Amino acid sequence: MPATPLSDVRGRVEAGEFELSPDVQLAVVSRIDDLITAVTAANRALSKLPQPAVPEAAAKMASLYYISGHGWQRYLADNSQASTVGSAVRGAMQIGVAALVAQLSNILESGQPAPVTRRGDKAFSLPCAACGGDAVTLSKAATSPVEPEQLVVSSLSPVTVFRPVAGPRMGDVIALLEAGNAAAVVAHLRETQPGGCDAFCEKCNRLFCRDHYAIEAQWSGSWHEATYVTCPLGHEHEID
Ligand SMILES: [Zn+2]
Ligand SMILES: [Zn+2]
Repeated sequence: MPATPLSDVRGRVEAGEFELSPDVQLAVVSRIDDLITAVTAANRALSKLPQPAVPEAAAKMASLYYISGHGWQRYLADNSQASTVGSAVRGAMQIGVAALVAQLSNILESGQPAPVTRRGDKAFSLPCAACGGDAVTLSKAATSPVEPEQLVVSSLSPVTVFRPVAGPRMGDVIALLEAGNAAAVVAHLRETQPGGCDAFCEKCNRLFCRDHYAIEAQWSGSWHEATYVTCPLGHEHEID
């Protein structure tokens, strides 16, 4: 394998440059190996002929952000001796990722924004920019036979799994769905719903599904602190 900034940092860690304890050194090397594997796989997916394998590349990017995300940062913060190596790894990773992000962004740019998909009588979905699968599903459902129907909107959150829309707003969203305008549905949810539309990345103006976001819930014991999602282009936002 050719030398890369990540394999270079890996060599420095193994040579003992960062003076880590044996178990921390082992953990850091194994994490760098995971990053190298993800970068290599994303590269391979984007170089596929005759066409790049976009969903696969986006999934590898998401796994890259996940394994270098908040959990890893927290581990490094808990091991004061690991903070220097942490920034060395981060720097090396950013170099490796920049070219991938540029390439993926170009490919996504050339794609058409997909319309709303109808899923039977009572359900719709908004497509993922990377794979065309369901980024958001919106289904009419009643929680009990005596309750009026609500529009149940899926969420990326492991804590708030669904976000219902009821009352007059529901009619507005359904009208936009019937008209097939995914962008207008997203804008409406973002304006009127406290949870917004969590599958929407504001920074690149795209929707992604849960396979194509790195989703990281932060827990302190059984207390849910926050959930962060990062799109395949590396944009992070907090969803709850
Ligand atoms: Zn997807
Ligand atoms: Zn984005």
